[in-house]
Amino acid sequence: MGLFSKLFGKTDEGGKLDLSPEQFIQTPYVQHALKRYQKRAVILNPRTTAGPINPKLSKFGGAPNLNGLDTYPCCDVCDRPLNFVLQLYQRDFPEHYYPKGKDLFQLFRCPNSTCPDAYSEPFLAGHKMFVYYCR
Ligand SMILES: [Zn+2]
Repeated sequence: MGLFSKLFGKTDEGGKLDLSPEQFIQTPYVQHALKRYQKRAVILNPRTTAGPINPKLSKFGGAPNLNGLDTYPCCDVCDRPLNFVLQLYQRDFPEHYYPKGKDLFQLFRCPNSTCPDAYSEPFLAGHKMFVYYCR
């Protein structure tokens, strides 16, 4: 059964296609999915800065702290240098998982839209993402 059939019922069986957002959230299928897949989340509050941000701070964009990496990271498929997305220090996000002995989470993405492996991980916005944990 397709997602829309689960949400709205089959139109030839009198299913509704005109739900308001409030009605949509209350459908049994959405309520079940919310209950089953709910997770704790952190709301980030990114802001633009006038100058570069210290690489020893949690941040989106800018220059990453590369002290924990031997070389600037490159895509393991197309070999292009990765784009830095964000870094989170454990001191700022203690509720998140960090491997023992690591206190820095870094996320990079392959910038190559024609990378043969770019779409291999469907939940990561279509671009291959790379995760590093450093100290
Ligand atoms: Zn790539």
